[in-house]
Amino acid sequence: MIANSSILVHIEDNVIPGLRQYCADRQLSRFMLVADQNTYPVLGQAVEEALTRQGGDVKTVILTGDEVIPNEEFIMQVLVQADTQDRIYLAVGSGVITDITRFASHRTKTSFISVPTAPSVDGFTSIGAPLVLGGLKQTVICQPPMAVFANLPTLCAAPKAMIASGFGDMLGKYTSAADWSLGHLLWDEPYDANIARRSRQSAKICTDHAAEIGNASPDGIRYLMDGLIESGLCMLEFGGSSPASGMEHHISHHLEMKIVWDHLPAVLHGAKVGVTTLIAAGYYEQIRQLTQAQAKERLAATPQPDRAAEIQQIQTVYAPIANRVIAAQTPFLDMSGQDYDALKQKIIDQWPRIQEIAASVPSSPEMTRWLGQVGAATDMPTLGLSHEETTRAVKNSHYLRNRFTVAKLSRMLGIL
Ligand SMILES: [Zn+2]
Repeated sequence: MIANSSILVHIEDNVIPGLRQYCADRQLSRFMLVADQNTYPVLGQAVEEALTRQGGDVKTVILTGDEVIPNEEFIMQVLVQADTQDRIYLAVGSGVITDITRFASHRTKTSFISVPTAPSVDGFTSIGAPLVLGGLKQTVICQPPMAVFANLPTLCAAPKAMIASGFGDMLGKYTSAADWSLGHLLWDEPYDANIARRSRQSAKICTDHAAEIGNASPDGIRYLMDGLIESGLCMLEFGGSSPASGMEHHISHHLEMKIVWDHLPAVLHGAKVGVTTLIAAGYYEQIRQLTQAQAKERLAATPQPDRAAEIQQIQTVYAPIANRVIAAQTPFLDMSGQDYDALKQKIIDQWPRIQEIAASVPSSPEMTRWLGQVGAATDMPTLGLSHEETTRAVKNSHYLRNRFTVAKLSRMLGIL
């Protein structure tokens, strides 16, 4: 049991007694259980029966549709079933069901308990819900759960692809933690060294046990779920996604928007992040090979991007959200020549420290081996996404956030 940020986290062989006790202790007796056609039989029904047996009044919503998407349609499926009783929501499912419930419970001014059915993502304890609203993907600030009750045998029996997705999301913490350090060093981004260390450590625990995670052994899955919860808590405690999201997540975010805009089949978040982490790690590898003198030469040979051309590029690639992206990029777009030169000098002066940060990222062959151990994809075409769109995402997704990641650095060095 982990108690952190006032969220109680239970990961147990049989989580039902603990959940019943938790509800009894807090005199919680009215519930709105949200599940789908897959998660209701594997865990939802058992939760419903257990709480009903102790006198609980459980209203159950089983989401229906070919593919559950965190959009208006599925949020409505939950809200139309709401009555006027005060009910605590129970999100029985993976990331998408949790996010739909996070939103519905927050907007109806109640709380929710997360009952994950797959170790697929690090967002269970998050405050934000990534939703698709009006066809646009956006993170809406809502609330974290009051508690997480994860039933270990259910997590172990989750589809292998969902376990691999959770692992991919955790692999990304190596590059996101490194990007956060870069951003702090070169762009004065708010930073917490202890949280950065915890984020990196949560990734290491998972990669140290990649084979067990690939076998879905109880020990392996517990390590993975611990890592996912810890990563979520790092974001929650920091109050932002920086500890767990860098270049690898920005590329993935670009691809996720593209999937929504072009009505392509969804791809598990962590499956994409596993691959995009290899890409970001590749840039760290290139940086590791540059001496300070070579970096200085490259910085001198690479001109400051032209403001008008940058805006044009953003409008071309991110048409539906161009204004928002341009607003996020203002600090970069508005840099004077003098400020840009000062940033170049800072990079040269801090080159030894940049090398230390780059050295904290494992090599891409090593990461490829770990992804292989859990049966995860190591390239985008395997996930149904083209090389062409991936390249577009790699080149442009740094525009999506005001963050100084390895993508921004690589651009200044003329390697991206
Ligand atoms: Zn993620």
